[in-house]
Amino acid sequence: VYVSDIHIEREAQTTLLAAKVEARDPRISDRVEYRFHDLPPDMVSTAGDPFVAGLLIPAMAVGEDLIVEAPVSPTLLNKVDSIQSWLRAWRPGLHPARVEAAVAEPVPAGDGVGLFFSGGIDSYHSLLRNMQEHPAGKDAITHLIFGYGIDTRYGYDRRYMDRVSPFIQSIAEATGKRVVILESNLRQAFSATGWMLYHGSALISGALCLAPLFNRVLVAGSWATTYLIPWGSHPELDPLWSTDAVEIVHDSVDCTRLEKVVTQVGRSELALRTLRVCFEVEQQPRNCGRCPKCIETMLILHIAGVLESCSTFDAGLDPKRVHALPINHKRRVFENYLELLGDSSFDQRLARALRGALRRDRLRIILRRVLRRKG
Ligand SMILES: [Zn+2]
Repeated sequence: VYVSDIHIEREAQTTLLAAKVEARDPRISDRVEYRFHDLPPDMVSTAGDPFVAGLLIPAMAVGEDLIVEAPVSPTLLNKVDSIQSWLRAWRPGLHPARVEAAVAEPVPAGDGVGLFFSGGIDSYHSLLRNMQEHPAGKDAITHLIFGYGIDTRYGYDRRYMDRVSPFIQSIAEATGKRVVILESNLRQAFSATGWMLYHGSALISGALCLAPLFNRVLVAGSWATTYLIPWGSHPELDPLWSTDAVEIVHDSVDCTRLEKVVTQVGRSELALRTLRVCFEVEQQPRNCGRCPKCIETMLILHIAGVLESCSTFDAGLDPKRVHALPINHKRRVFENYLELLGDSSFDQRLARALRGALRRDRLRIILRRVLRRKG
């Protein structure tokens, strides 16, 4: 996989960073691009770092080396082997890839601190906690980054962007932060590996384009340490993508989602009025209250005792929908919710529904094992 012609183009209010990509494998697209809305070109770097973060996993997936025609931070180059060890331990089908690029001279870092922000429990918690612990000073978050086309499966659905972008802007205004809207084709063009493992480095690659703006970027963790699973954004993996200029921080592995609601999100009037977890386009920036993402979030808010105060769901918490929840890799998380439900008749209905969902998932696992043994 050969990355060349890294350059910046200006399109009206948007700065476009693009590069040509050549590979033997047809699953690798021929162009990678990042668009930054309302951001001047001097805030975007033309270094090779984002292309290492964005294309290493795709290169490993198709078994090719990665050559980047631009200098890359020595800090990142030194970590490429550790990154690959983690990834190959999780996904043995990934091939080791040699990474070739010139070593970059030190560059001055920006003075901003970014946070990837979607309006969900994880990123809201990171924002609120940072505002509490660092109301000002060098550790205070200065920018909310919305990764359009990376954050969601909606890629280039304009309706999604048109509805979510002003929403993120309004939260930034309410919290005294600025917004960076980042748009990229990484998810559409290079996720042959599967998105679950790739999403972390795809997001981080967008942050590394902004070295003139940031010296640190926070990625809100999805999994508390007690429930960690191999996941593309991980407390051991994310910091390894740091460069000399930009430190990548995987935030808040010390809290479960429920703890995040209890300690921050559920106490913030702003968060309860604007919480956004749903991916349904028509719904934005509100939540449908019916999809699994909505149902699980409502269950958490209910257990924390703040569901009634949250005004962003368009349907009530329905035990029938809890019963239909897919469990998959979240068994322990859901078992924990089950323990925390109370004695009210509604809680008992939720508990029965959750036990039903867990039982159905257990049967699915057993059935799959039996079929595999037979087959
Ligand atoms: Zn929904």
